[in-house]
Amino acid sequence: MTNPAAIDDELKTHFKFATDDIVDGLNASQHRRVDGSSLSCKIVIVNDLEPYALAAQRQESSVVVFSTALIHNCLAIAYLIEPVLSHLRSKKNEQRFERNDLVSKLIWGSSLNDGDKREYINLLPRYPGFKVQRIGAFAIFYDMLRLLIAHELFHIILGHASFSQRMLGLGPIAEKPQSRLKSFHETEGEATTDILKSFELHADEMAMKLNIGQILYGKDISGYMMDPHVDLVERLTIFNIACSIFTLFWRAEEQDLSIDSMSTTHPPAGLRYLNFRDYQREMAGVYDPNLLFAVDSLSLNALSLLSEIAGEFNGLLNLTPLLFRTPTMKKLARLSDHFMAVNVRMSENWKPLVYIPSREVP
Ligand SMILES: [Zn+2]
Repeated sequence: MTNPAAIDDELKTHFKFATDDIVDGLNASQHRRVDGSSLSCKIVIVNDLEPYALAAQRQESSVVVFSTALIHNCLAIAYLIEPVLSHLRSKKNEQRFERNDLVSKLIWGSSLNDGDKREYINLLPRYPGFKVQRIGAFAIFYDMLRLLIAHELFHIILGHASFSQRMLGLGPIAEKPQSRLKSFHETEGEATTDILKSFELHADEMAMKLNIGQILYGKDISGYMMDPHVDLVERLTIFNIACSIFTLFWRAEEQDLSIDSMSTTHPPAGLRYLNFRDYQREMAGVYDPNLLFAVDSLSLNALSLLSEIAGEFNGLLNLTPLLFRTPTMKKLARLSDHFMAVNVRMSENWKPLVYIPSREVP
């Protein structure tokens, strides 16, 4: 017998285990606004069949919300693509995997039945904190959750949720590109949609840097569980796989929009993916230049293997940087520069809403 409430409760326990150190780290920094008010943010997981995440500012506190459907889908995809991991270092040019339609369906927002949800939860390491010998789907799943929670918390910390609600008169920041701004409108001389897009890129940047830094310096939970069997090249490739899956979620959302992309709330998925990869490359290269090329080539191999399971991954191959940058990448980089320049020009406007760390955490 499967009990949906019990399944969701167990999922929440795993979510907490995977993300606790991110939350603790941010708490330890004791963020405050310039007026002295301290950051108070609740993390809520709601039992819902619709996949979504959002960040909202309430009266004196704020909240980030995730639906169980989103977390279940992340978990299932991680395990459905796990077979790829054992073939990562094989360069043989042959088809190895059957296409799996369930991966594509989950990317496009389908939900699992309770039996499948239970099955995937049972695959996770049984005892949180348990040491493991080899990297596996659990690490892809944890990386997805860690990116998610950091992205949402930075929407609160950087003042995005407050600015969107108080100054732009919009709702909470929801992680679905929306067409809520159909008519062109401006705020302080900038297109409002550009401001919202700049928020997404800024939250991505901070979430990415936090997560990559933790992986490189052995502070992430997956690294802790695998200690001392951590292969940093493989570990960063796993992280890139997690980023790729999110990109496919966003791409699927984009396809659902029947309006032109300039009036949406989120930047193009390809641009976010490229930024993710660039931050990863930048930080890996500083840590050890040899790491940079090893991770790039393994990540590219991972994508081509993943494309055999779900064709959607194929679209990321030409956006995955090696030494050469394609014209599409250069175009996306220019667009990213534009949104980030908007963010800098506008930053005085949300300065009072930003929470600044008052303590340096080692
Ligand atoms: Zn966002």
